[in-house]
Amino acid sequence: MRKLDTRTIVVASHNAGKIAEIADLIGPLGFSAQSAAELKFAEPDETGTTFEENAAIKALASAKASGLPSLSDDSGLVIDALDGAPGVYTANWAEREDGSRDFAMAMQKVETALSERGAIEPSQRSSRFVSVLCLAWPDGHTEFFRGEIEGIVAWPPRGTAGFGYDPVFQPEGHTRTFGEMSSDEKHGWKPGDPQALSHRARAFKLFVETCLEA
Ligand code: IMP
Repeated sequence: MRKLDTRTIVVASHNAGKIAEIADLIGPLGFSAQSAAELKFAEPDETGTTFEENAAIKALASAKASGLPSLSDDSGLVIDALDGAPGVYTANWAEREDGSRDFAMAMQKVETALSERGAIEPSQRSSRFVSVLCLAWPDGHTEFFRGEIEGIVAWPPRGTAGFGYDPVFQPEGHTRTFGEMSSDEKHGWKPGDPQALSHRARAFKLFVETCLEA
């Protein structure tokens, strides 16, 4: 495992919601981070079929363009009753014909697909959010960290916090959706804490333990 020996990194993302979450997670660690969006790097095509492949595509593109270690996140919602969909295509389900993204539409698509399969009861609506972080260096070295959180797909959507599919994801053991939680509650983690809640915070905790701590 390669350690990170700089506190300057690029967050390899163009997704405002993710960039904000990674900034919240990274802030207490004393990093100076700029995003690929701010640096006006081109957004690479996510042609992989796994979270790991897509995370590597984004982190390597940004590391090569910037000459700095770059951290990407590839994530998505995996729903058992839909045979794992939308999975790596979670962002695509929100895409409109004009290229813009509409998450109210995406959540409705998920609900329509679940009701077509008769998945009405909470026990039929199990799912997990997955986040794979990739830290890539300009020389092509990569490290991966995967975090997952189990839950159910709630309907109708609840809450306006967070981003993407947060209003329909209710983590196991909780009565509220991610859309009803503050950023601190959703992550459920700060450096040094033994546990984290969100998929991204779980992956981030591994990143900190593996690449930052002695
Ligand atoms: P990608 O990683 O760029 O392919 O996009 C991941 C997709 O999953 C985005 O469309 C997000 O809206 C969704 N997603 C990932 N993580 C979260 C989360 O923490 N909350 C809500 N939606 C998420």
